Amino acid sequence: MNPLDATRNQVLQQIAEACQHAGRDVQDVSLLAVSKTQPSTALAAMYAAGQRAFGENYLQEALDKIEALADLDIEWHFIGHVQRNKTKHLADKFDWVHGVDRLIIAERLSNQREATQAPLNICLQVNIDSQDTKDGCQPHEVADLVAQISQLPHLCLRGLMVIPAPNNTPAFRDAKALFDQVKAQHAQPQHWDTLSMGMSGDLEAAVAAGSTMLRIGTALFGARDYSK
Ligand SMILES: *Cc1c(COP(=O)(O)O)cnc(C)c1O
Repeated sequence: MNPLDATRNQVLQQIAEACQHAGRDVQDVSLLAVSKTQPSTALAAMYAAGQRAFGENYLQEALDKIEALADLDIEWHFIGHVQRNKTKHLADKFDWVHGVDRLIIAERLSNQREATQAPLNICLQVNIDSQDTKDGCQPHEVADLVAQISQLPHLCLRGLMVIPAPNNTPAFRDAKALFDQVKAQHAQPQHWDTLSMGMSGDLEAAVAAGSTMLRIGTALFGARDYSK
């Protein structure tokens, strides 16, 4: 008996209830298993429980797991901060990158993605609640960045990613409004379908506001141990 079966089912149940409460179709909200600090064996067990999409934050740790789990049909998402000198590995090894917030990063990812690979899926990270951080573009920059990034040949711009401050759930509504604004544009990107927001502690509010992809770590794997 795989103990992660039960944990994953609990989280899926929680998502289903949040969808029901919000009057949304459960098919429209996907679960990204955030596996930073977890050993490959834990990812393999979560995979055996049915999970296919995994999110990692730290590049070297992720590359080790991608190699160790190469036999599994995993969809790899990078959800950490993207450094300019690390884009080559991201373009090579990942299916999605959520933390893109500058044109230069997107250009590098597009140039470094092999034409033989499927386009790299991208979310534009927005600093939605004016936090004191360098991560994420400003909301007023979104329209121009979307117009520019959606022209890049080896990327597929899918939507927005936000990490509001803890308990700032109203910021989810602002993110949804921004997402819808792009959608309403005449020249919206072709596959604009992803609003990446919500973690273990705030998934209900994120679903209520319109999240289409929840990034869940602790509720799936338990508390992280950073000491190793
Ligand atoms: C770690 C992390 C998560 C998962 O957080 P939990 O509270 O463990 O669910 C989600 N998104 C990002 C960007 C993260 O870094």
